[in-house]
Amino acid sequence: MNTRPPPQANQWRRPKGLSDVTVALEYVCDDCARPFGLDRPETTCKACGGLLEVRYDLDALPRDFRERAAAGRPMAMWRWRALLPLPDGAVQVSLGEGDTPLLRCDRLAGQLGVGKLWLKNDAQMPTGSFKDRGFSLAVSMAVALGARRGLTYSSGNAGASLAAYAARANIDVVVLADYLCNPVKLAAIRAYGAHVFRVRSRSTAEVFKALEHLGSEAPYSFVNFLNPVRHEAMKTYAYEICEALGWRAPDVMVHPVGTGGGLYGAWKGFSELYELGWTETVPRMIGVQPSGCAPIVMAVADGASFAGPAGDPSATIAQSIAGGSPIKGGRRVLAAIRRSGGTAVAVSDDEIRRAMALVAGEGVLAEPSAAAPVAALGRCLAEGKIRPNEEVVCVITGSGLKQPTELASTVPAAPPLELNADAAEIAQALASVWPVAT
Ligand SMILES: *Cc1c(COP(=O)(O)O)cnc(C)c1O
Ligand SMILES: [Zn+2]
Repeated sequence: MNTRPPPQANQWRRPKGLSDVTVALEYVCDDCARPFGLDRPETTCKACGGLLEVRYDLDALPRDFRERAAAGRPMAMWRWRALLPLPDGAVQVSLGEGDTPLLRCDRLAGQLGVGKLWLKNDAQMPTGSFKDRGFSLAVSMAVALGARRGLTYSSGNAGASLAAYAARANIDVVVLADYLCNPVKLAAIRAYGAHVFRVRSRSTAEVFKALEHLGSEAPYSFVNFLNPVRHEAMKTYAYEICEALGWRAPDVMVHPVGTGGGLYGAWKGFSELYELGWTETVPRMIGVQPSGCAPIVMAVADGASFAGPAGDPSATIAQSIAGGSPIKGGRRVLAAIRRSGGTAVAVSDDEIRRAMALVAGEGVLAEPSAAAPVAALGRCLAEGKIRPNEEVVCVITGSGLKQPTELASTVPAAPPLELNADAAEIAQALASVWPVAT
């Protein structure tokens, strides 16, 4: 029995005149180009099983949309609603996601030896990861389509995000948490009220295969890319970043890659801005994976357009990007990297730990997967894949607070010295930090 109240409307009031009307047209299958209506709860193509892509009529965007979106800041990500596929009039299930800070980090840029560096801090999202962009949209879509039950597979952050938005919308969800999911993330998923099962598997491919075979009675799928809209929300990264830079794109965007939905969505957003004529360039997209589990990096190195399963998800501290089996061969993310002129690089756990410390030095706590782009930046500079005068945005995709054990592993193992609440003792301790000039 369900006693929770019905979905709440967005708590932010829409500024007068901001268009509610989406310019999204339809889904189109990646493989057979068959179109499907946006008004049905589709997963993959009914004809061939291919992934579905949302198509837009960018020419239909009102001429003054950009100015009105700028005026709509309190709505955060939902300022860009016309460029998202939610049906007109549908409720936005929102917790205040988006409009995260783009932090210029001159000191870190100097340490690494790059021209200009910004951290796009999505660790500041409602549930502590960038997943909230996707789930705000996907849960809104599910509600609009009348779905009452949903399902996702997750290493932790996606499960927490789905659970939070489902709680807000009062829909019943099951999270299949990977057995590597850490206790903090697991507790968050349960605290938000989702049903949780832990899933053992020899590879993520096994899990995806099982999900695809659940049949016609399957609940609404929120799994990235099997769900056709989750990655669309990641376009808003690009809108926010280019807006903050005065409608310019950076030279390079570095993004951690699990399923690749984040990188792919951001690339789609940058491409749209270029097509709209709001920006004159697009960034090179650089994907990052842990060296123990890097199928996309291996495919890029081989010049392949299809990535087979590779690596071991348990071989790294970067849980959120330890996906050994790219969905549909990772073709979307590989195409985005190739078209952008970018690349993909693998980083070791040691490099990731050093990057976590560097990022903390700028006031940002990143989980290992989220610090991976900064680790990759160092490597790309050393290998000439990024030039020293370039402008780079690294995305901080998730908060270090959700992986406290790894956060603790970046500081000295010895605990801080314990003091009594005694003035002389404290003075002595202060003198050991700031020697008194004699
Ligand atoms: C999910 C996740 C990623 C990877 O995102 P994909 O869209 O699956 O590539 C990266 N970092 C963090 C913190 C995540 O939670
Ligand atoms: Zn198809």
